[in-house]
Amino acid sequence: MIQLGEWMTQDVVNLARVIQKDLAWNLMPMLADLMEENGFINMMTLKHLRRDTHLSFCYLVDGIVDLAEGKACPVELLPLPSSGLLARIE
Ligand SMILES: [Zn+2]
Repeated sequence: MIQLGEWMTQDVVNLARVIQKDLAWNLMPMLADLMEENGFINMMTLKHLRRDTHLSFCYLVDGIVDLAEGKACPVELLPLPSSGLLARIE
């Protein structure tokens, strides 16, 4: 079940899933752009997505997918949409 809000659009979630599944690290800057366009403002996170090297996983991409599935995630780097709905999905 997905509750979307603010930066966490369906496109962001879909792209994160593609990156996670296919290890498509070349799409990371696109993910950062999408998130930023939707109002995501944590520059540490955006910089990580755009510049850091990845091999087998990215805890932020995993965090986005986990958030979309209602699981816990590194909240300080992936601030919840202000609605807070994502924190309460069962
Ligand atoms: Zn990463």
